[in-house]
This record gives sequence, C-alpha cells and structure tokens, in this order.
Amino acid sequence: MQPGDNANQDRIHLTHTADEPGKHMGAVVAPIFMNSLHVFDTIEEFEALDGYAYDKYLYGRDCNPTVAVLEQKLAALEHGTRATVFASGMAACTAAIMATCKAGSHIICISDTYTTIRDAIKRVFIPRFGMSVSFVSGLDMEELELAIRENTDLIVLESPASMYFRGMDLRAIAAVARRHGIKTYIDNTNASPIFQKPLDLGIDIVMHSTSKYISGHSDAIGGVLITKDDELNRILVEDIREHVGGIMGPMEAYLTTRGLRTLEIRMHAYYKTGLAVAEYLERHPKVRKVFYSGLASHPQAELLAGQQTGHGGLMSFLLNADTVEEARAFVNRLKLFGRGGSWGGYESLVLLPFHGVGQEDMDMMGADPRLIRIYCGLEGADNLIADLEQALEGV
Ligand SMILES: *Cc1c(COP(=O)(O)O)cnc(C)c1O
Repeated sequence: MQPGDNANQDRIHLTHTADEPGKHMGAVVAPIFMNSLHVFDTIEEFEALDGYAYDKYLYGRDCNPTVAVLEQKLAALEHGTRATVFASGMAACTAAIMATCKAGSHIICISDTYTTIRDAIKRVFIPRFGMSVSFVSGLDMEELELAIRENTDLIVLESPASMYFRGMDLRAIAAVARRHGIKTYIDNTNASPIFQKPLDLGIDIVMHSTSKYISGHSDAIGGVLITKDDELNRILVEDIREHVGGIMGPMEAYLTTRGLRTLEIRMHAYYKTGLAVAEYLERHPKVRKVFYSGLASHPQAELLAGQQTGHGGLMSFLLNADTVEEARAFVNRLKLFGRGGSWGGYESLVLLPFHGVGQEDMDMMGADPRLIRIYCGLEGADNLIADLEQALEGV
C-alpha cells in the first residue's frame, strides 16, 4: 500500500488538528487543564451539558480540555469518529471487552497476542463474568469460522502481533465477523496509526497502548480506543468510562500529545533502523531465525504490503543456541539495549518475552522460550548493529 494522501493528512493532524490557539489566548500549545471540575454562572448552563461530546466539561472523570485535544487528534489519525483515552492500554482493552460483551459472552482471541490481554481474559472475564475464550492463529479463515459460536461477541486481533509478528488478513476477518454480527477489535500498537488504519479495512475498534510509539518518550502510560460506530462510542464514553472510570489524566494527555507531534518522523526512523537491524541479523551465521514484519522473507509479506505502509522497530529472533541460558547470556552482554519490558520510546530495549509464561500457553502459541525480542530506538542502526555484533561474538 502506498502512503498517498493519508500521509499528508496525518501530518496536518499531528501538527494542527484540534489545537485551536484562539481558544487559549493564542497559546500555541493548549494549556494543561489541571482542574477536576468546571463551574458555571447558572445552574441551567450546568444542567444543559449532556451526551458524549469531547467538550462536556463538567467533571474530570468524564472530560478534560487537554484530554480532548489528544482524543481529536487520535480519532482523525485513525479515521474514526471519536477516540476515547484511558489511563493505560489495558484500561482501554478491558473497556472494549466490557462495551462489546456481557456475562456469558464468548471471545475469539488470536494466540500470539500481548500476554496481559490473554491474562486479563483468563484472570478476570472468564472466572468473574462467566465468559469463555477460544484461541485461534488468526491466519486461517476456516479455523476462524469453526471457532464462532452463537454467543461469540468479540474477535480480538493484533497484526502484526508483537511476539512472532504474524500478520492477519484484516479485510477478510472483518468480512467474516460482519456476516456473523460479531465486533472486531485490533491492537494496532505495533503498526501505529501512521502505517496502518484498520477502520478503513473494516475493523470495528482500534486500540493503542499510547505508552509505546504514540507518546514515544517512555514517560507516560495511556491507552485509546477509536471507532466510527457512534453507538459504540456512546457506550464507551457514557456507559463504560464515566461509570467504570479510567480516563487518562491531563498531565499524561499533555505528554502524549507532545510526543504524538513527531510520531510520523519517528516511525520512519524506527522503520529504517528496524529493517537494517533485521537484515543484519538475518544474514548473521549465529542467528537461526528473525521475526520482523518488514522483512522481504516474511511469509506474509504480500498480505502485509496490502494493508500497511511501513513497519516499526520491534522484532524477535532465535540464536543458533540450544539453551535458554545461552540466550540469557547474550541478552546480558548487550550494552546499548536496556533490559526492560516495554518499547516505543527513544531507547532500545531487549527482553526474553516468554519468561514466566505457563507451559499450556507456550504450547498454544507454539512459542520457544529462547526467543529474544529487541526494540530498536533512535540510537541509529550503526550503533545498534555494533552492540549486537559484540554480543554475538560470545555466542
Ligand atoms: C504495552 C502494550 C499493551 C498494554 O498497554 P499498557 O499501556 O501497558 O497498559 C497492549 N498491547 C501491546 C501490543 C502492548 O505493547
């Protein structure tokens, strides 16, 4: 897919959409509204505010002007009619489940999903709300159709997923789901709104952990849901967020908007570095296999090229080594890559992502405990490759 007109529109959203300096004494950056409520001259004005508009400024659990700037930018970037931000990616994810499911609902979830989402379903929604889950690869339409039950209310996707970077045919899955009246949800954190716009492909709900690329500086936790289904938007804002709570705070919203302004130029930098590092690893005799959505050798390269315009800085790989201990020793030899469990900021990170995952889940995913996941930040490919090279020498 070519970036085309989307890229030019995105740049305007990042730089100008919803900023409105005229509302704030010409301040080029909207102030951080650190207020928990708003007061009115008359009680009638107070009572007149209703609904789920961005500017129903009554109380900080419902709306906040700094939060509204971020929400409008994110909705525009993802081609939705509304964005709803939360205090974390997981608060957004669980709000989407609450908005689309009920006690007894069945969820279909891809097996290669972000671990905490799988655990939230298993630890909260199944035991406490009597829900059930079927895990599918997301790669096979027949398998998906067979998993659908009468009480299936939600399909949870992530493409490219953030462990093995498998891609899912979003248009085809959305078409199957629509035929059965099932809502589709995608974790789009890895592709970012710059490189993939799933609402345009027929997906119902897009989620991001804004803690990653969107805020981009490893200094703010947050999440967002974006849809163009106005009934879903109403449920998310009025029923779930107002009553369950979990709105993002104004300081985080400010930091997230500040990071968001450079999302497009950062994504292209992560892509350039990520591809160079993945190609280096793929050529290296001490590396058995590299998983990166942007590699020409990716088994679904053609599918991915039809639904996204670029890739990020996240990848995983297996060494030519027999034991987890060898993978651990390699990870400990790295100097520029910090050993830590996130990504999307300026700094490169490394992790053994399956540490502590139970055998049942490992089998379901076909996961290898020796898998090493790296995130390539903004240090540049030359510095990162030099660090990987010195650590590989010891393998
Ligand atoms: C981090 C992450 C989440 C969870 O987001 P938090 O902001 O940490 O709650 C969900 N999905 C993916 C792919 C993530 O990387």
